Amino acid sequence: MAIETTEKYCPICGKQVAEPTFNRFGEWACSEAHADEYVKETRAQKMRAAAPAPEQQPQRPPRQMRGG
Ligand SMILES: [Zn+2]
Repeated sequence: MAIETTEKYCPICGKQVAEPTFNRFGEWACSEAHADEYVKETRAQKMRAAAPAPEQQPQRPPRQMRGG
Protein backbone atom coordinates (compact mmCIF):
# COMPACT_ATOMS: atom_id res chain seq x y z
CA MET A 1 0.00 0.00 0.00
CA ALA A 2 0.99 3.58 -0.46
CA ILE A 3 2.41 5.58 2.35
CA GLU A 4 -0.39 7.10 4.31
CA THR A 5 0.07 10.22 6.33
CA THR A 6 -1.59 9.79 9.65
CA GLU A 7 -1.04 13.30 10.83
CA LYS A 8 -3.85 15.71 10.11
CA TYR A 9 -3.84 19.41 10.68
CA CYS A 10 -6.65 21.89 11.00
CA PRO A 11 -6.78 24.08 7.86
CA ILE A 12 -7.95 27.02 9.95
CA CYS A 13 -5.58 27.16 12.90
CA GLY A 14 -3.00 24.53 11.96
CA LYS A 15 -3.52 22.43 15.07
CA GLN A 16 -2.83 18.72 14.87
CA VAL A 17 -6.04 16.74 14.66
CA ALA A 18 -6.13 13.34 16.32
CA GLU A 19 -9.75 12.37 15.88
CA PRO A 20 -11.67 12.15 12.59
CA THR A 21 -14.65 13.84 14.13
CA PHE A 22 -14.69 17.00 12.10
CA ASN A 23 -13.82 15.88 8.59
CA ARG A 24 -14.98 18.23 5.88
CA PHE A 25 -14.19 17.67 2.18
CA GLY A 26 -11.26 15.49 3.20
CA GLU A 27 -9.84 18.15 5.48
CA TRP A 28 -9.60 17.60 9.19
CA ALA A 29 -10.57 20.38 11.51
CA CYS A 30 -9.85 20.55 15.22
CA SER A 31 -13.32 21.64 16.21
CA GLU A 32 -16.82 22.01 14.84
CA ALA A 33 -16.38 25.77 14.66
CA HIS A 34 -13.27 25.44 12.50
CA ALA A 35 -14.87 22.72 10.40
CA ASP A 36 -17.79 25.03 9.78
CA GLU A 37 -15.43 27.86 8.95
CA TYR A 38 -13.56 25.67 6.49
CA VAL A 39 -16.83 24.70 4.79
CA LYS A 40 -17.76 28.36 4.41
CA GLU A 41 -14.37 29.21 2.93
CA THR A 42 -14.54 26.29 0.52
CA ARG A 43 -18.03 27.25 -0.62
CA ALA A 44 -17.00 30.86 -1.11
CA GLN A 45 -14.02 29.79 -3.22
CA LYS A 46 -16.19 27.47 -5.29
CA MET A 47 -18.72 30.19 -5.92
CA ARG A 48 -15.98 32.56 -7.03
CA ALA A 49 -14.56 29.90 -9.33
CA ALA A 50 -17.97 29.08 -10.76
CA ALA A 51 -18.84 32.70 -11.44
CA PRO A 52 -15.75 34.61 -12.56
CA ALA A 53 -17.79 37.40 -14.10
CA PRO A 54 -20.48 39.31 -12.30
CA GLU A 55 -23.90 38.14 -13.26
CA GLN A 56 -25.79 40.54 -15.41
CA GLN A 57 -29.51 40.38 -15.43
CA PRO A 58 -31.49 42.12 -18.11
CA GLN A 59 -33.38 44.80 -16.37
CA ARG A 60 -36.24 46.59 -17.95
CA PRO A 61 -36.23 50.29 -17.46
CA PRO A 62 -39.07 51.55 -15.34
CA ARG A 63 -42.05 52.71 -17.30
CA GLN A 64 -42.06 56.43 -17.59
CA MET A 65 -45.19 58.40 -17.34
CA ARG A 66 -45.55 61.02 -19.95
CA GLY A 67 -46.87 64.21 -18.64
CA GLY A 68 -48.60 65.92 -21.38
ZN1 LIG B 1 -8.65 24.67 14.25
